[in-house]
Amino acid sequence: MAVIQELKGIGNSIAALLEKLHIFTTDDLLFHLPRDYEDRSTVVAMNQIQVGRTYLLEGTVKSVDFPTGKRKSMAVLLEDEFGHVTLRFYHFYKGLIDRLAVGEHVRVFGEVRVGARGLELYHPEILPIATLSKTQLTAIYPTTEGLTQSKFRDYIEQAFNQYAHNLPELLPKQFTNGYALKDALNYIHHPPLNAHMQQLLQGQHPAQQRLIFEELVAHQISLLSRRAYIQNMPSPRIHPSESFLNTFLQRLSFVPTQAQQRVSKEILNDLQQPKPMLRLVQGDVGAGKTVVAAIAACHALESGWQVAIMAPTEILAEQHYINFKKWFEPLGIQVSWLSGKQKGKAREVAQHAVQTGQSQLIVGTHALFQDSVQFAKLGLVIIDEQHRFGVDQRLALRNKGAPHQLVMTATPIPRTLAMSAYGDLDTSTIDELPPGRTPIQTVTIPIERREQVLQRIAEQQGKQAYWVCTLVEQSETLDAQAAEATYEELKTRFTNLNVGLVHGKMKADEKQTVMQAFKENKIQLLVATTVIEVGVDVPNATIMVIENAERLGLSQLHQLRGRVGRGDQASFCILLYKTPLSQNGHERLATLKESNDGFVIAEKDLQIRGPGELLGTKQTGDMGFKVAKLERDEHLLNQAHHVAQQMLKDYPHQAEALLNRWLPQAPRYAYV
Ligand code: ADP
Ligand code: MG
Repeated sequence: MAVIQELKGIGNSIAALLEKLHIFTTDDLLFHLPRDYEDRSTVVAMNQIQVGRTYLLEGTVKSVDFPTGKRKSMAVLLEDEFGHVTLRFYHFYKGLIDRLAVGEHVRVFGEVRVGARGLELYHPEILPIATLSKTQLTAIYPTTEGLTQSKFRDYIEQAFNQYAHNLPELLPKQFTNGYALKDALNYIHHPPLNAHMQQLLQGQHPAQQRLIFEELVAHQISLLSRRAYIQNMPSPRIHPSESFLNTFLQRLSFVPTQAQQRVSKEILNDLQQPKPMLRLVQGDVGAGKTVVAAIAACHALESGWQVAIMAPTEILAEQHYINFKKWFEPLGIQVSWLSGKQKGKAREVAQHAVQTGQSQLIVGTHALFQDSVQFAKLGLVIIDEQHRFGVDQRLALRNKGAPHQLVMTATPIPRTLAMSAYGDLDTSTIDELPPGRTPIQTVTIPIERREQVLQRIAEQQGKQAYWVCTLVEQSETLDAQAAEATYEELKTRFTNLNVGLVHGKMKADEKQTVMQAFKENKIQLLVATTVIEVGVDVPNATIMVIENAERLGLSQLHQLRGRVGRGDQASFCILLYKTPLSQNGHERLATLKESNDGFVIAEKDLQIRGPGELLGTKQTGDMGFKVAKLERDEHLLNQAHHVAQQMLKDYPHQAEALLNRWLPQAPRYAYV
């Protein structure tokens, strides 16, 4: 392997372009795989061509004219004995006009589109009529502006000829589909003419799958070694709580579900081990994760350790703060609040209490991660709604000692994806909702009928509703403005209701006051932005209206919908959408209408959007696959996991080399 500058024709400016594509070394070039292939080997009859594909065609020019439509162009009718196509040029010059004069016999190469005259080729390449000598398909690479396909092919050719034979085999032989690495790369960069094109385009060819598998193994090695590294640290000894737990459960107005009890047991079992717990608790919205977290806190607190609870938004963190204060202060535990917005004296007092151990239970936002926050005796960290935090942040807190980690996510993650994104965590699932919930009824209504929705809300005596405003831009300011405008409108309109407003631009205590008023039914209609997405719990709220629902992703919509249906009354979710709906938008809304099951929705979301969107950019930044696509290659994950375990145990040097090949940037942890 060498740096790309070693290759002919690559100076600093080309190297800079390649770096944009994350290509730094000749290996990176070899692993930069084609996105498509062209067949330049065979002339195709004009009655065999299909829109969207690229062909080599040959024929006689029948006519040439220069229509002046929206834009002046040159239209050349080319005919063979089976049919005809139009060649369309928006830029033309004398040489081209001469070459395509009526009666000329030419060969052209280009993509077929539908134009004003039926099937057309826009600016095809004009090729000499020579004997065809190609024996391979021609690869087309993902590229960037300033780098042509032919240059790309040249660099990859050079890299291949000079460096491919040096690539060591790192994968155990039985997992290579019979392809040595070099042969697999050769096949993918230069498939034979009879290659199964469909299979290649879908990444299903055994040569491709062999590479994909190798990459997945490398990722699993990375996750497993991180896990091993953490689990090798000593961790707080925690004993089962007796008095705290009993008192807590007695004061609770309900009995935990079977699923909550089972997961709590799994957690307690981890806490009693001498190594740090690394556990992910998944549970659909409303499954009751908070109680499970509180039970875990009972054990740690009674054993004399501090517990930190962290949530991604102020609203959610504050809600936890209120709950945990209510539950734990009567047990003689001091509960503290830490947030980024907290300044000056209040902040100092809180940090001091945490540092001296005077306060044992600390609830807050990202602020808990900051260096200035020092814990006296941190035993357990509970992170709610994990997918919003990155792995690195999780590690940052761990570095303040090696406490047990409990991560809770409300977005149920398909199992295989969880294995890849959270391969370093054990998983528990709360797969049962508390009793007495009536399923939420979801309807989709075009925005033109917004008026009817308003009427319907006006008629709902004694019910509480959310009205969520969304915007295209990911801008808190614009979102807030939209919500303010809607708030003014609805306030004027509903004189019989108290209308409230909450959005991300409000001060923490303002938000807090509004949420509290909504909880106490002093507000019946709450206009909000998506800040209420996660975790807010007001059981009496039974109507959720989401404006411009088509703009939000499936999981986000499911989260929002989960704000209702928390009590025993029938609940409704009304998705207002703007027409016309895109195919994708239609699919998303239909999925929500049909299913209330977070797992079904997450699987669908994974198919529609891919894992990056589903988990948030932070997580996928960590994943950064070169050739694998989780939504396509999930079926390989289980085996990749086992092979990774085996390699770490029996072939640590190969495992390390795999990391160097596939994840050169990732942090390294000694595997023990
Ligand atoms: P999530 O899993 O979405 O975080 P919460 O922990 O906020 O859910 O719980 C949702 C609601 O269900 C809360 O009002 C909570 O008090 C209630 N709840 C939790 N567990 C039970 C249970 N076993 N029986 C009845 N209600 C429960
Ligand atoms: Mg929650």
